[in-house]
Amino acid sequence: MSEETIFTKIINGQIPSEILFQDDLCICIKDIQPKAPTHVLLIPKKPIPRLVDATQEDAALLGHLMVKAGDIAKSLGVGDAFRLVINNGEQAGQTVFHLHMHILGDKTFTEGSLGM
Ligand code: 5GP
Repeated sequence: MSEETIFTKIINGQIPSEILFQDDLCICIKDIQPKAPTHVLLIPKKPIPRLVDATQEDAALLGHLMVKAGDIAKSLGVGDAFRLVINNGEQAGQTVFHLHMHILGDKTFTEGSLGM
């Protein structure tokens, strides 16, 4: 079995974090090292390591995360301009191997840029 990530520990309450939202399937916390004025993480409670490890069985969960990402962006006041980022794999910048979406807002995004 793979080792527990920091996000599993946050979900289980073993490590404190500023929780903005949670339900049975996911949790939303503030990123500890924000890269934009609004930078939160939306994390499924199921510990899927990377997006490519998700299966058809996870389709409803992934859909739920997308809907919640929009709701959370709206509730944070960035519903009209935010970026949703998933880093998949170390070379793509993934550092925590528990699937998560970055919701980034309140930042001027360069047209066409992928930079965070
Ligand atoms: P990744 O690089 O894997 O896509 O994103 C991991 C994110 O988790 C980073 O933006 C990092 O700042 C954030 N992070 C890492 N450890 C913690 C933590 O203990 N608490 C919170 N709130 N965020 C964390």
